[in-house]
Amino acid sequence: MLQTICVDMDDVMCDYTKIFNNQLKLNPEQKFPQSVQGFFKNLPEIEGAIEAVKHLNSISGFQIYILTAPSERNPLCYTEKRIWIENHLGFDFVSKLIISSNKGLIKADYLIDDYIEGKGQENFEGTLLQFGSHKYPNWNAILEYFK
Ligand SMILES: [Mg+2]
Repeated sequence: MLQTICVDMDDVMCDYTKIFNNQLKLNPEQKFPQSVQGFFKNLPEIEGAIEAVKHLNSISGFQIYILTAPSERNPLCYTEKRIWIENHLGFDFVSKLIISSNKGLIKADYLIDDYIEGKGQENFEGTLLQFGSHKYPNWNAILEYFK
């Protein structure tokens, strides 16, 4: 049976915080850069994320899903996340995109997320690998774990 790995987007696959802070500096009047059209679509990749996700999806015994919580006040976010996935991972990954404000409802073996709570991560029943933590600071560490 395949083991399922769910991967978060913001600050795990896409560099949300860097662009958020840049935009805030460029335009301090706009307090919510994440509500501006194009914000989610144009986020750059976190180093190594795309290659790592493709790799994990290709090794036998595993399947990848993208599990991301939306920025609920920005309706465009839902569409832009979908576009981001196609642009960076290809159309085959679009059907792997799960947008949910409650990640605890999703049944999977692993969740790779930078937060361990707040969007249902605290109720996730599988193994949570905290991206950016001391133990899993980057994608190399995650790949090492699944070796
Ligand atoms: Mg995140």
